[in-house]
Amino acid sequence: MALIVQKYGGSSVSDADAMKRVAKRIVNTRNAGHNVVVVVSAMGDTTDDLLDLAGQLTNQAPDREMDMLLSAGERISMSLLAMAINAMGVPAVSYTGAQAGVQTDKHFGKAQITGMVPERVARSIREGQVAIVAGFQGISSDDDVTTLGRGGSDTTAVALAAALNADVCEIYTDVDGLYTADPRIVPTARRVRQLRQEETLELAAHGAKILHLRAVEFARRYNVPLHVRSSFSTKDGTWISNAPANPELKGLVPDAALATNQEDKVEAPVISGIAHDRSQDKITIVGIADTPGKASRLFEIVASAGANIDMIVQNVPTSGSGRANITFTLPQDDAEKTLQAIEAAREELDFTDVRYNPNIGILSLIGAGMRTNPGVSAKLFGALSNAGINIDMISTSEIRISVVTKLDDLDNAVRAVHSAFGLDSTESEAVVYGGTGR
Ligand code: ADP
Ligand code: ASP
Ligand code: MG
Repeated sequence: MALIVQKYGGSSVSDADAMKRVAKRIVNTRNAGHNVVVVVSAMGDTTDDLLDLAGQLTNQAPDREMDMLLSAGERISMSLLAMAINAMGVPAVSYTGAQAGVQTDKHFGKAQITGMVPERVARSIREGQVAIVAGFQGISSDDDVTTLGRGGSDTTAVALAAALNADVCEIYTDVDGLYTADPRIVPTARRVRQLRQEETLELAAHGAKILHLRAVEFARRYNVPLHVRSSFSTKDGTWISNAPANPELKGLVPDAALATNQEDKVEAPVISGIAHDRSQDKITIVGIADTPGKASRLFEIVASAGANIDMIVQNVPTSGSGRANITFTLPQDDAEKTLQAIEAAREELDFTDVRYNPNIGILSLIGAGMRTNPGVSAKLFGALSNAGINIDMISTSEIRISVVTKLDDLDNAVRAVHSAFGLDSTESEAVVYGGTGR
C-alpha cells in the first residue's frame, strides 16, 4: 500500500462532469489499495474571474482581502469534490489550507510556506477517509488567510507529500506531461519521459507554467518523486526524480522510472527543453552616474519595492561621459511599484531618464548537457537570426541560455529554436485536453 498525493489543476475540475471524472479516478486509486490525499485547485478560470471581479470594484484592494477572496476558489472545488467522492460511496473530507496545517509567512499574494502540520489530514488517512485539501492557501502567524502565488496548488501538494512522507506526488493537468516546449506553442513538442530535478527547476523558474517553481524546490529538498500527467488520459506522464521509483508503485509511475537509475546510465541530453516567459517587463535607467555605489543603491530600491530581478545588463554609452545605462527585467506585477520607487529616488540616483518596455518575451534553452557541449549558443543565435528575430538581451547559467526578444516574436522564436535543436517529435502531435492557457 502506497501513500499517494494527487493534485488536480483547475482545468481538471472545470465543471460537474469533470469533477465526477476526477472523483472516479481518486476512487479507483483507493480501490487499488492505496491511501490518497488530494490537493485541488479552483475550478476552471475561477481565480481569474475573482480577480476580474475585484478589479471592477477597486484597483487598490487591500492585500489581505484579495487573499481571502482568492482562497474561496479552492474552497468551492474541495467541498464539491468531497461530495462527488462521498456520492460514490467512499468517505471523503475536505480541508482548507489552514485546517490542513499549511503555515505561511505574512506575504499576502506570494506567501512562503514556513511549516506543515497536517494533523487532521493524517487523522483522515488513519480513519480511511480521502482527505481533500484546498491548494494555493495557508494561514499566517496572525491567523490571516494567505495565498502562495499563481499556480501555487502544486506547491501545496508537494509540501503535503513531503510532510506526510508520501511515496509519490502526482500532478494531474491538461497535457500528458512535461514537453520539450509548451505544446500550445509547439504542437510538435516531444513528451519527456523522465527529467532530473535540476533541469525541471530551471524550466519552472523560466516560465514553464506546468509546475510552480516552489513545488519543484520542495520536491528537490525533501526528495519527493513527482509524476506530471494528464487527468484526461491514462498515459504515463513525466517522472521527475533523481532516483528510480519504489517498485511497489508499478502501474502508478512510468515503467522507465522503475527500470534503472537513469542518472547513472544515461548521459544528460544536451537540451531538455525550452521555456518561454511573457510575464516579464524591461526597465532601462538611462544616464545613471557611473560611480561606485549607484548600482547597489538602485537595486536596493528595486528590492525594497518587492521586485525579483532576473537579467541585468549595464553598458557605458559614451566614453568619458561618466554615465551608464542599466537595463533589467522584472515581473510585470512588480513594474508599477518599482517605477514609482525609482522615480522617487531620481535625485539620489542621479540619472537622466527611465524607459519602460512591457512588450518583451524571454526564451530560455535548458539542458544539463550544455556544460560539456560547446556551440550551443552559436546554434541558438543562428536559429534566431535565420528566423529574422532580433536578440535584445542575453543571460546564461551553467545549464541555461536566456534571450530577450520582442513579445510578438516570442512564439516564432520558440518554434525556430525547437526545430533547430532537433526537438520536434515525429510521432503524433501533443494533445492539449483542456484549459484556456490563461
Ligand atoms: P493546471 O491548471 O493543471 O495547474 P497549468 O495551466 O498551470 O495547469 O499548467 C499546464 C499548462 O502548462 C499546459 O496546458 C501548457 O500550456 C503549459 N506548459 C508550459 N510549458 C510546458 C511544458 N514544457 N510542457 C507541458 N506543458 C507546458
Ligand atoms: N487557483 C490558483 C491559480 O489559478 C492556484 C492554482 O491553480 O494552482 O493560480
Ligand atoms: Mg498550474
